[in-house]
Amino acid sequence: MVNRVLVWAAASPRLQRQVTENPIARRAAHRFVAGERLEEALEAAAALNSRRIGGILDLLGEGVTDLSGATHAVEEYEDAIQAIADRGLDSTVSIKLSQLGQTVDRDACVANLNEILDRAKALGVRVEVDMEDSSLVPDTLSLFRDAAATHPQTRLAIQAALRRTPLDLEALAPLKPRIRLVKGAYAEPVEAAQQGKKEVRAQFMYLTDWLFQHGSDPAFGTHDDELIAYARQAAARAGRGPEEFEFQFLYGIRRDLQQQLVDQGHRVRVYIPFGSAWYPYLTRRMAERPANLLFFLRALAGR
Ligand SMILES: Cc1cc2nc3c(=O)[nH]c(=O)nc-3n(C[C@H](O)[C@H](O)[C@H](O)COP(=O)(O)OP(=O)(O)OC[C@H]3O[C@@H](n4cnc5c(N)ncnc54)[C@H](O)[C@@H]3O)c2cc1C
Repeated sequence: MVNRVLVWAAASPRLQRQVTENPIARRAAHRFVAGERLEEALEAAAALNSRRIGGILDLLGEGVTDLSGATHAVEEYEDAIQAIADRGLDSTVSIKLSQLGQTVDRDACVANLNEILDRAKALGVRVEVDMEDSSLVPDTLSLFRDAAATHPQTRLAIQAALRRTPLDLEALAPLKPRIRLVKGAYAEPVEAAQQGKKEVRAQFMYLTDWLFQHGSDPAFGTHDDELIAYARQAAARAGRGPEEFEFQFLYGIRRDLQQQLVDQGHRVRVYIPFGSAWYPYLTRRMAERPANLLFFLRALAGR
């Protein structure tokens, strides 16, 4: 029920306008989003770095409808990359290909992606690519394959919930791909994705072992205690030390666990969303965990 309301809320432009223009809502969103400006994201990354945690800067916004939107996203990412290098921060950037024009003009998207990858390489900053809904998966894999040939440090997010994922990874195996394994944040039809939590977890575990065998420097993007424990055991089975893989968290979630893992010698990186398009991101996080909705509503009510 709560989920259905949130799916409706995410799609309602009227509600979006009312929430995003409300100063109290904007302040409450700060728990999960660093802010609307790059400067705020850089400050969040610096604060995490001081706790020995790396950052992943993510400019919010997806699915641009014209190329000027894509050009704007490229400029914002280039500014972020430059600032990370200038300030000597330990941070990557994570991009969404739909933000670079993937569904508007594929050639332009390729050019935009290469521009970001070249700039990042020149400045020693690493780039990660988010995975979006299942309609974009085949093309995202194909763009990643080309990008990884020239920029092998690029990391791709892969969703454990999708039925196709084991075969997709097999096809990428010759590249020894750098992967961020996540459960998958999008509502997908039963033909495309496992729907049960148990099944998604089982596939996540299978893919964790696979990545220690066939991937490079795997990253596990999850807050799930059982999957984190599984990854540590899988690493030990594969003879890998804590410096050979990393855990990734979303900003503002399980901060206790982030620190605990760092204190135990693990590498941890936190995904830091910033930008004015924070509303769909926030509703996705609330759908995952209704307690966050309660937190948000309490903040709105001033309690
Ligand atoms: C760094 C990172 C990058 C990601 N990139 C992508 C991507 O590119 N594409 C994509 O589809 N998905 C991405 N995701 C989202 C991912 O697919 C899941 O939707 C999200 O991580 C929730 O799943 P979970 O593994 O944490 O497990 P869950 O079963 O959702 O949660 C396990 C436990 O974690 C805690 N928790 C989880 N979510 C929250 C929350 N919102 N608030 C508070 N506590 C919470 C709770 O204790 C919960 O019991 C990313 C996630 C991370 C961490």
